[in-house]
Amino acid sequence: MRRIGVLTSGGDAPGMNAAVRAVVRKAIYHGLEVVGFRRGYHGLVYGEYSFMQLGSVADIIHRGGTVLLTARAPEFLEPEGRQKALGIIRESGIDALVVIGGDGSFRGAMALEKAGFPAVGIPGTIDNDIDRTDYSVGFDTAVNNATDAINKVRDTATSHERVYVMEVMGRTAGHIALAAGLAGGAESILVPEVPFDLDEVCERLQRGVKRGKLHSIILVAEGAASGLKVAEEIKERTEMDTRVTILGHLQRGGTPTAFDRMLASRLGAAAVDLLLSGCHGQMVGFVDNTVKSTTFSEALAKQKPFPEDLYRLATILAI
Ligand code: ADP
Repeated sequence: MRRIGVLTSGGDAPGMNAAVRAVVRKAIYHGLEVVGFRRGYHGLVYGEYSFMQLGSVADIIHRGGTVLLTARAPEFLEPEGRQKALGIIRESGIDALVVIGGDGSFRGAMALEKAGFPAVGIPGTIDNDIDRTDYSVGFDTAVNNATDAINKVRDTATSHERVYVMEVMGRTAGHIALAAGLAGGAESILVPEVPFDLDEVCERLQRGVKRGKLHSIILVAEGAASGLKVAEEIKERTEMDTRVTILGHLQRGGTPTAFDRMLASRLGAAAVDLLLSGCHGQMVGFVDNTVKSTTFSEALAKQKPFPEDLYRLATILAI
């Protein structure tokens, strides 16, 4: 192995830069050359790449987003697009590729593997919806951003004695909602993995008011329901003063937490080690505080289990 490529793909996640930095520096440390592709698979299809040096990744460890840029590349879903990408791969002279992204990006990496080109993956998505890793890069920062927002909204909720419905991201998964809801002390957390009954949510709210609660925060994962709809229903059923805050991309931006930077650094280095040991077709993950790799097909085989024990705990503590 002489030269490797690296790209960030799909939705951006804070900490992707730290992962790129780790890949570039660990590879150069071992005497490899590194090529950075821009805009995910788009850069592979259209030949947007350049060589990366130690200095290319200077001063980025603390920045959100990704200096390599990211994109959704529909061309890569088509056989012709992938053929073009394989041509660019030959032209760039890389022997393997490190893909930093979510499950879609890993499917793209699997397509390259199927065409005979070695690829490894680093889970980078705020949703934390990839199985076989306890955490994906970006999740911790998103949870901290969401928790920070809850703290702020709580001040107004208390002062005005209101119910606030806060909608958080997570696509089809409720991991951000659960973690931020537990950390932020939300009264109810609605996630796609656990069926919910709005009547019960309203009863909880009314019980809270009876025992003197000044405010309530209902956290809704975008995959569970629309925050606006939930707020409307609550208002109609309880006649309580109900407002909505949709956090949107505020969750995804900003400086990555120390946890995300450390995770990204460890996984980036591990991805290079994996390639140097001759392994590919795998994702590097973080399981029980240890770096552990899994084949792409295993990582993508099923939905990541939802921590129902934590969900029960959050419900008990918000009694
Ligand atoms: P994420 O990686 O965050 O889940 P996407 O699902 O949008 O994001 O995937 C990112 C990119 O990965 C897509 O735009 C496409 O270029 C590539 N990709 C996704 N699924 C496949 C697939 N089944 N085959 C080949 N490439 C894919």
